[in-house]
Amino acid sequence: MPDTARLWPDAIQAELPKLVEIRHHLHAHPELAFQEFETSKLVLRELQNLGLEIRSGMAKGTGIVAVLRGKGPGANSREAKAVALRGDMDALPIVEETGLNYASTVPGRMHACGHDGHTTMLLGAAKVLARHPERLNGTVVFCFQPAEEGGGGGRYLVEEGALDNPACSAAFALHGFPSMPVGHVAVRPGPAQAASDGLHIVVHGVGGHGAAPHLAVDPIVLAARVIEALQGVVSREVNPVESAVVTIGAIHGGEASNVIPQSVELRGTIRTLKDDIRRKVHEAVKRTVEHTCLAGGGRADVTIRDGYPVVVNDLAASAFALDTARGAFGAERVHELPLPSMGGEDFAYFLRKVPGAFIRVGVATRQPYPGLHHPAFDFSDGAIPVGVELFCRLAERYLAEGFGAAD
Ligand SMILES: [Zn+2]
Ligand SMILES: [Zn+2]
Repeated sequence: MPDTARLWPDAIQAELPKLVEIRHHLHAHPELAFQEFETSKLVLRELQNLGLEIRSGMAKGTGIVAVLRGKGPGANSREAKAVALRGDMDALPIVEETGLNYASTVPGRMHACGHDGHTTMLLGAAKVLARHPERLNGTVVFCFQPAEEGGGGGRYLVEEGALDNPACSAAFALHGFPSMPVGHVAVRPGPAQAASDGLHIVVHGVGGHGAAPHLAVDPIVLAARVIEALQGVVSREVNPVESAVVTIGAIHGGEASNVIPQSVELRGTIRTLKDDIRRKVHEAVKRTVEHTCLAGGGRADVTIRDGYPVVVNDLAASAFALDTARGAFGAERVHELPLPSMGGEDFAYFLRKVPGAFIRVGVATRQPYPGLHHPAFDFSDGAIPVGVELFCRLAERYLAEGFGAAD
């Protein structure tokens, strides 16, 4: 192959003004999970005339899967591969405080997780790769998913066959990373994002007069004991070299200072990085809450709702992604992260089906930079060409040689 070091950067520069415009438009018009109707229409419009096979209306309506058939040598052979690239489209119920001239125009809605940037980078990759099918020795499947923020849109997309026809053998996703400067890329091999499960507890007591606690069973005292007892689950029941989090984020009970209420409600989240630890923590939480309440003469209803599973980056795919990023941006800008995040991500559903990697791209233009979900966060325009180039190179190289050469 001829030297193509400038091929992708030059092709991306030609698209960049339009991509920046798209991102600013998306940022100004954020839509919540499963309501990404205008976003989905914009994506469809931008995918027109690129020669892609498009499936729309997926994942409850707004999901889109677009297929690009390569024309490189061997693209039509039996051994030709297919690779999935994912971008998420939904925004958050947050009041924006960036002061940007393209800030949200929708009260209480904001692209505070940078999914405007993710959608734009995936669109950019579709546009650029579609102009260079001769570089692709197989097929690229672009997955625009709704509802990453709690709705599990990725699960619907996978269940509806996004990775099946053509059969993908690898998947990659990019996410903005505010603790790293623009131009940098990072991957955590192995478990990268935690399983995030919902915890709901109702502590039942017996209501009564605040001056006669002996005639009541005080669920407020029981709830306090429950919170205290739960601190022992991670510290005493999980192997100290493993990780888990049990956080109670909401507690509701009582109305008056002299009344013992009937019940108290607690809500929280459980985060773990391995399936066996996940099951163990669930069991320990349930047992601890139920028996703490029984000991005080009350009882508890404990519901643990399974959220997203652990995002596990395949080791070969991680090495491949790191090596590909080093080739594009230089080793000094590419980082192997030593630790996972306890945040959740529904790209986990893609990685349960095929090996791949969840890759972080730096968005910080100053330090400290506002974190994800912060009202002052913005996905930086400077990260767009970085992400598009990475997507293009991952697709090109994976279809040419698989993960193999980077091992
Ligand atoms: Zn988020
Ligand atoms: Zn996100």
